[in-house]
Amino acid sequence: MPYKVTIDAEKCIGCGACASICPGVYEMGDDMKARAKQAKTNEKCAKEGADSCPTQAIKLGKA
Ligand code: SF4
Repeated sequence: MPYKVTIDAEKCIGCGACASICPGVYEMGDDMKARAKQAKTNEKCAKEGADSCPTQAIKLGKA
């Protein structure tokens, strides 16, 4: 099932965990905030990356 990826920049503390676990879906911007490389994704690691976020900044919804 594809996910729709939403990242709350206010909650992101720039730890890089999501981009480290799932670099195909998440990347760090110049502002050290995570952003989604794809608005929708089928990658299995998208959920692992979201679960790794210490501030629950990543939301995965139905695409
Ligand atoms: S895991 Fe969460 S806090 Fe860390 S960079 Fe990703 S979105 Fe930001």
